[in-house]
Amino acid sequence: MKHTQITQAHDPKKIEKELGDFLNKKFGGRVRIVSPSTQTEKSFVNGKTPDTGKSDLVNFNIKPAELIAYLDQYVVRQAQAKSILATKICTHFNRIRHQETREEKDTRITGNIKSNILMLGPTGIGKTYLIKLIARKIGVPFVKADATKFSETGYVGGDVEDLIRDLVKEADDNIELAECGIVYLDEIDKIAASPDAIGAQVSRTGVQRALLKPMEETDVDLKVPHDPVSMMQELERFQRTGKRVSRRVNTANILFILSGAFTGLTDLVRQRLTRQTIGFHSQLNQTRDDPFLLKQTRAEDLVKFGFESEFIGRVPVRCILDELSENDLYTILKMPNNPVILSKRLDFAAYGIDIVFEDDALKYLAHQAHNENTGARGLVSAVEDALLPYEEKLPSSTVTRLVVNQAVITDPSDTLKDLLSGQPVNDWDAVYQQERHPVSY
Ligand code: ADP
Repeated sequence: MKHTQITQAHDPKKIEKELGDFLNKKFGGRVRIVSPSTQTEKSFVNGKTPDTGKSDLVNFNIKPAELIAYLDQYVVRQAQAKSILATKICTHFNRIRHQETREEKDTRITGNIKSNILMLGPTGIGKTYLIKLIARKIGVPFVKADATKFSETGYVGGDVEDLIRDLVKEADDNIELAECGIVYLDEIDKIAASPDAIGAQVSRTGVQRALLKPMEETDVDLKVPHDPVSMMQELERFQRTGKRVSRRVNTANILFILSGAFTGLTDLVRQRLTRQTIGFHSQLNQTRDDPFLLKQTRAEDLVKFGFESEFIGRVPVRCILDELSENDLYTILKMPNNPVILSKRLDFAAYGIDIVFEDDALKYLAHQAHNENTGARGLVSAVEDALLPYEEKLPSSTVTRLVVNQAVITDPSDTLKDLLSGQPVNDWDAVYQQERHPVSY
């Protein structure tokens, strides 16, 4: 009897709610409860979720060529990156599958080296996009964070183990699935202990060290240290089941993808290549561009850049991504799966306005975006800026369709005047038939 009362009094959901309300009142939503979600009792057998394993959810059988073909539908250029990523990631997951189907699961190679990947290249060229697409296609959870937000101990900034807990959340609390997830760490170059940044060196090296274990293999406890709610939940679980079961995530199969722009790395590569070619007729042309030099990157250059060699040793796969030209940006806009154009069409469709883009408009937008020097990220602002006057005025008019050409973008006030006075600004039907089908939801 007494036991039942305790269980009711410690209903974890209730406790979580009460504490949440309290924190909300005190800190106004700035502090929230981070705790392992509550689960049914049977989910805690061995800390795993046996009835919701990963086998139905993931496509571990996928082959590199199939994955590359999928990426080609969305991502312009980056042929080499697609090939390296698709091959290494497919092998990684097929290896997990192979390991699991073998009779003796404990034949795992000791000191097995994971295919963690380092991606080098400037912003907005598809690094995150490629990995997100791959995670989606394979069906594994994906989390992304900036390496700069972490601190060595986890007290000042975030704790690297939080990333693993986030994977479990992404996997809807399915630990087995989270154990095959992908962790994406951006701005990794910012945790290099660069000789120029004396003060920050120690903590940067500390973050690299903190990443070593999760990147290789460690068990991460889902119970968040110093979190009263998770402590209470554990107590409640103990009272309910009579067992103390800790829920842990093993990181042996979690893939770490690290990325950064690595500004300045090319100078180090150039210096090394120049040194190596002294005394011979130099193969190294000083005018060789950055992408060529980046492709020659070796571990020793990365160590010189400010990484510990143990850290670099845990990222054996490297891929260099290409910068995007103006024409690449135009090709991106032309892609049927392009989210920038699709989402803008949906924005207008929400007001009952159908818009289509003519080719000269797309070329103009690509040109504008290229000037921003932020890769494909510039496309969003170029499209937003171009259509803002229309997004403001047309919803309150009777206009239901608009063909966006270059003149519509460069001369919004005259175009709007004509449109709002009922003048046709272009031959909608002719262009529409040629250009696009209506937006489908
Ligand atoms: P980063 O290289 O900085 O990680 P992202 O991959 O996040 O950049 O790119 C931002 C957005 O730009 C993507 O969500 C995608 O819509 C678009 N994009 C970037 N590169 C490409 C590309 N090569 N092909 C198609 N779209 C791209």
